[in-house]
Amino acid sequence: MENIVIVGGGAGGLALATQLGNKFKRSKTTKIILIDKNPSHIWKPLLHEVAAGSIDSTFDELSYRYHGKNKHFNFVLGSLETIDREKKKLVLAERVDENNELITPKQYVDYDYAVIAIGGISNDFGVPGAKDFCYFLEDKNQAERFHQHLLNQTDRLSCKSIKLDSNTQDQSTPILRIGIVGGGATGVELAAELQHTAQGLYGYQRESAGRVDYKITLIEAGPRILPALSEKLSKAAQRTLEKIGIEVRCDTGVKRCSKDGFETDNDTIECDIRVWAAGIKAPPQLAKIDGLESNKRNQLLVEPTLLSSNDDHIFVIGDCASCALPEGGFVPPRAQAAHQMASLVYKNLLRSKRRKTLKDFRYKDYGSLVSLSNFNTVGGLMSGFIGSEMRIGGPIARLAYLSLYRMHLLAIHGLYNSLLIAVAGRIHRAIKPKLKLH
Ligand SMILES: Cc1cc2nc3c(=O)[nH]c(=O)nc-3n(C[C@H](O)[C@H](O)[C@H](O)COP(=O)(O)OP(=O)(O)OC[C@H]3O[C@@H](n4cnc5c(N)ncnc54)[C@H](O)[C@@H]3O)c2cc1C
Repeated sequence: MENIVIVGGGAGGLALATQLGNKFKRSKTTKIILIDKNPSHIWKPLLHEVAAGSIDSTFDELSYRYHGKNKHFNFVLGSLETIDREKKKLVLAERVDENNELITPKQYVDYDYAVIAIGGISNDFGVPGAKDFCYFLEDKNQAERFHQHLLNQTDRLSCKSIKLDSNTQDQSTPILRIGIVGGGATGVELAAELQHTAQGLYGYQRESAGRVDYKITLIEAGPRILPALSEKLSKAAQRTLEKIGIEVRCDTGVKRCSKDGFETDNDTIECDIRVWAAGIKAPPQLAKIDGLESNKRNQLLVEPTLLSSNDDHIFVIGDCASCALPEGGFVPPRAQAAHQMASLVYKNLLRSKRRKTLKDFRYKDYGSLVSLSNFNTVGGLMSGFIGSEMRIGGPIARLAYLSLYRMHLLAIHGLYNSLLIAVAGRIHRAIKPKLKLH
């Protein structure tokens, strides 16, 4: 029996496991195994919405075990620690519960081909205090922790302005100060989504008692936000953010984080809640995996075929791969790149089994879209007709942005089930509150 093992069931890994599971469902010689450190999948670009409470993650998450049963792959819950390349074994760390009691000991999973797809984590660039005093948006648990903290902090301030008895009334509206470091897509989308939450939570109350205002500051070290988009789109996004009351501070490098806020080159930005969303790197264990070549962001170097630069049995896809583009630069860490890589590795695994020459990866940039919650969506789509970027905004951009997630669902569930999910989503939104308030 030959084992194809995918490590990491994110945007790239889950699509690949699903496709391979379907392909080899009747095979007596090939087994597909997916390993993930979490028991369920949620599409990462939804995390800022989970953090702000705009969506309830329980509706959008998918159990790997359940999905594996339907799509004919085996699922192993565990976190990749290292790889024994000589014995072709993936080593998974032991798992303990919250009381430090052992759940599973170290596990070893044999592979004939391994696909590493464990994504990225936030890059704090070694800024002192970032790890201790900031929230990160790397997975569902972190997004939910942030959401709970946001609600608690809001309630703490809210009770100050509620008239509990005649002696405790405070006339002023309390302000919750939120600082977000990083003017890339994650920081920008989170800032807009939080402003939307603020309006939904308290902005429309009939009485001002209990109301809390959010003061959101977006901090960017570079000269403009959204450097991946054109200057015009970046300015349009900044105008929308400022119009809805978000302060955007460009050319502002953060030197230190503390419980009081961010120390910059010139001043201190005081914040009650701090988020770090400035750049990504691959998880640190990849930098020391049994001789595999990596770069300074811990990403594994790959050949154009997406095979590791020094192992013919290990493919690497998504945010944890360092894949050079023929025209210079590297494939960007995006969901669309992870998907495209998964499609190529699927083909290359089949070719490899048939001893055919492997194909090279060609990244197709379909453009980038940034959602500013209900306020606007901006971005550019690559147009095949005019051969360049087509700038879009407003409802059309919103539709295109939402279609990204629909395409992910299509790859995972197929046409019929994704249509059912879309209908169920509409019903869910119609009968449930617009914001998750618990
Ligand atoms: C808030 C936010 C908004 C974004 N918006 C967009 C967007 O609009 N458009 C876009 O193209 N991209 C967006 N991105 C980026 C996009 O989400 C990533 O580029 C994409 O998810 C990368 O896919 P991946 O398969 O490489 O990794 P991921 O989707 O990150 O999946 C990695 C998987 O590996 C698992 N894993 C991690 N470590 C281990 C381990 N040691 N052992 C086992 N399993 C492990 C994780 O649990 C996870 O399931 C956004 C990201 C964030 C955080």
